[in-house]
Amino acid sequence: MSYPIISKREHASPAPPNLRDYDLVHSKFSWDQAREKLAGMGEGKLNIAFEALDRHRGTEIENHVALRFLPKDENAASPQDISYRQLLADSNRFANVLASLGVTRGDRVYCLSGRIPGLYIAALGALKHGCLFTPLFSAFGPEPIRSRMDIGQPSVLVTTSRLYRKKLADWAHELPYLDHVILLDDDPAETPDRRAVKLSALMSSASPDYSTQAMAPEEPALLHFTSGTTGKPKGAIHVHQAVLAHYVTAEFALDLQPRDIYWCTADPGWVTGTSYGIIAPLTHGVTMIVDEADFDAERWYRTLQDQHVSVWYTAPTAIRMLMKYGKEMADRFDLSGLRFLASVGEPLNPEAVKWGMETLGLPFHDNWWQTETGGIMIANFSSMDIKPGSMGKPLPGIEAAIAHRTAEGIEFLQNSDETGELVLKTGWPSMFRGYLNEDERYHKCFIGDWYLTGDLARCDEDGYFWFVGRADDVIKSSGHLIGPFEVESVFMEHPAVAEAGVIGIPDEVSGEAVKAFVALKPGIEATEGLQKELLGLARKRLGPAVAPKTLEFRVALPKTRSGKIMRRLLKARELGLPEGDTSTLEESGK
Ligand code: AMP
Repeated sequence: MSYPIISKREHASPAPPNLRDYDLVHSKFSWDQAREKLAGMGEGKLNIAFEALDRHRGTEIENHVALRFLPKDENAASPQDISYRQLLADSNRFANVLASLGVTRGDRVYCLSGRIPGLYIAALGALKHGCLFTPLFSAFGPEPIRSRMDIGQPSVLVTTSRLYRKKLADWAHELPYLDHVILLDDDPAETPDRRAVKLSALMSSASPDYSTQAMAPEEPALLHFTSGTTGKPKGAIHVHQAVLAHYVTAEFALDLQPRDIYWCTADPGWVTGTSYGIIAPLTHGVTMIVDEADFDAERWYRTLQDQHVSVWYTAPTAIRMLMKYGKEMADRFDLSGLRFLASVGEPLNPEAVKWGMETLGLPFHDNWWQTETGGIMIANFSSMDIKPGSMGKPLPGIEAAIAHRTAEGIEFLQNSDETGELVLKTGWPSMFRGYLNEDERYHKCFIGDWYLTGDLARCDEDGYFWFVGRADDVIKSSGHLIGPFEVESVFMEHPAVAEAGVIGIPDEVSGEAVKAFVALKPGIEATEGLQKELLGLARKRLGPAVAPKTLEFRVALPKTRSGKIMRRLLKARELGLPEGDTSTLEESGK
């Protein structure tokens, strides 16, 4: 079914958009000129946190609410407002706390926490102090947390007593590189770690003044983990000048304007929740909503209504869940404060764009990017016609193309609508500068001046990009990127398991559901009990966001002659699709 174009007049926002003439701005844009949009710290130095907070000192924005925190249990606690002035003072205190513990510029600070103000203060304070900051998703189980800790070897972990007890207590005391565990809460129970300190005591004696470290544009600021098809998770390094891209892309693709109330529903444990859930909104001086609770349709509508959210950045899985509750539920709320809706993370069904128009009076503006790009690369803008199902057009400052990898290098596809790999011309400020300790893996992502995204896409005759699929086996479930290898490794540790293969299968709500296939060792019976045990093990070790929901036993899994599980074939067979090239298949897997 093809969906009619939504003309720019049909979805025009009441206020003139920041990007009024896409073609003009895209043709004239230069990152060097755009640098003037930042405050900077003199002599070419800058700091992400300075742009987010210090730059507003002495302006009217100082008194605005920077962060409105909505606690999970609304009956137990009321919303908490933190002004720009207060957030600056608190993150300065946090930077001073780090200094008092002997933490220095360049040290790595990890944070494992739900969406509470302490997480935001720690992120900004660590950046101010020149540390490399890594947020970890709090729904991860111990396994993904530990592997990411071992790769980045942080000297500081910021967390809560509850998360420490639940996910770290069994093993964190063994980590030789970890010097400090900073607890964000005041839980009276002892945390079984001699390095643990309570933040509140340290904060109360710390000064609210701190001279933010002036960083070179290329100094590392953030380390975000992402997954590949094989091997360990990859730590993508982002530098301080990424803030320029965060600022500019939020101006153009999210249309952020000074008085906006902005809600990014992504968790800071994933790149969207940091780039657009902390940095970009603060650089624009808007009020950001931080909801501690997980998805709940009524609560979300109530939040949009009661908080007068004007710009809402969310994800397809959430939109599909809202769609299931129907227009009737949406109609019970006054959502007239909304003026711009955006979506990212997975393919946005054209039906969802249409549903936005019908139910909220606005379309969702799909945009595309990934951990490695650090910021939005392709988007539907307020000032252009929307073709539902398309990711839109490249941002000003971004050149995108469709190409094939060849023996000689790269071949660009000239004809519109041909499917190939989505590639981006290097040089934008938020591009990752390496995978931590994995130079080879990093260099493999580039051919000449082009970054290869690993996504398959096509570009139509009007210059709109359309997502086709992933070129590799990674799984996108509820917007979370999951590396099959990480999941398979947990099954492989079970004494009954001989082989494991994990794939994503289409799911109406989460986009893809994680499904495992397991072959047992000779003589071991495939029972329902064992199936439950394996699923339980995965849930405990990986956490609910990563663990498979279903598992099937097979006598053997399809493998290449060199012994690699052919996930592509597992998937084709599961979905009844053509098997494609099976010339490398080892016979026993058939
Ligand atoms: P992550 O690095 O976790 O942000 O995941 C990035 C991947 O998510 C991309 O490479 C795409 O495969 C997928 N993705 C992100 N945004 C979109 C979108 N708008 N449409 C389709 N896929 C998307």
